[in-house]
Amino acid sequence: MTEINELNTKELTTWCPGCGNHLILAALKKAVSKMNLNPSEVAVVSGIGCSSGLPHWIETYGFHSIHGRAVPVATGVKLANHNLNVFVVSGDGDGYGIGLNHLIHAMRRNLDITFLGHDNQIYGLTLGQTSPTSEQGAKTVSTPNGSIELPINPIALGLASGATFIARAFAGNTEQLADLIVKGTQHEGFALIDILQPCVTLNKVNTFEFFQKRVYDLQSEKHDTSNFSAAFLKSFEWNPRIPTGIFYQTKRDTYTEDLPQLKEKSLVKQQQELKSVDINSLLEKYK
Ligand code: SF4
Repeated sequence: MTEINELNTKELTTWCPGCGNHLILAALKKAVSKMNLNPSEVAVVSGIGCSSGLPHWIETYGFHSIHGRAVPVATGVKLANHNLNVFVVSGDGDGYGIGLNHLIHAMRRNLDITFLGHDNQIYGLTLGQTSPTSEQGAKTVSTPNGSIELPINPIALGLASGATFIARAFAGNTEQLADLIVKGTQHEGFALIDILQPCVTLNKVNTFEFFQKRVYDLQSEKHDTSNFSAAFLKSFEWNPRIPTGIFYQTKRDTYTEDLPQLKEKSLVKQQQELKSVDINSLLEKYK
């Protein structure tokens, strides 16, 4: 088993004390260790936001990219080397807001990556604006009279977009979260894991206590994960009970399996012949 210490760095994170991000980082390390993955077999890609600092604090390959663009970068990583286990770490503002279009397309392509949506229902890094998953009526610095918009439902969106593994976890239950990360990673295809991650500094409504009182495990209630309609109905359950666990899982070809150029081997394993090109004749052509 990979030692969790091998995945640690000596640097301290910049997250607030008590932030749910600490627990997600711990669960990810636990999951990588449980799967006995060598750190060189893992790539963690993030966008921008509080959660997106995570690749700095786990000793695997990492890429801290730009706002909303973690999925395109992860797509490039996976296409270049589909033997890597690729994780996307993205907050609700980054992944379900500015980067939402990329997320939808990666899900419908069934790219074999694991998306960890750090969903704290607020913009943390920019100090507390309403985010795409803030509840209707949420009072924040950008909506002091309460948000008038309906929130995005990541689970229903994942189902409608063709993701083949769709789950929700609560950061306060790291055992369940680590287990879902293992299952999502071992699943061949796009794994969307929406993680309820309390922002202890800026979201005073959706706190650890709020979720502790409401969350329950779908698997303990014998939910049928092959039943699309049942998963869709469950995705709209929120108050007073919030389902966690696997909503839906199915099998279909992944993007790299169907791409003839990559089907046999990763790009990095293919022999590339560098031919010298006469650029002048090309320039002449477009004069
Ligand atoms: Fe975590 Fe919120 Fe602090 Fe950001 S602002 S580090 S999300 S507690």
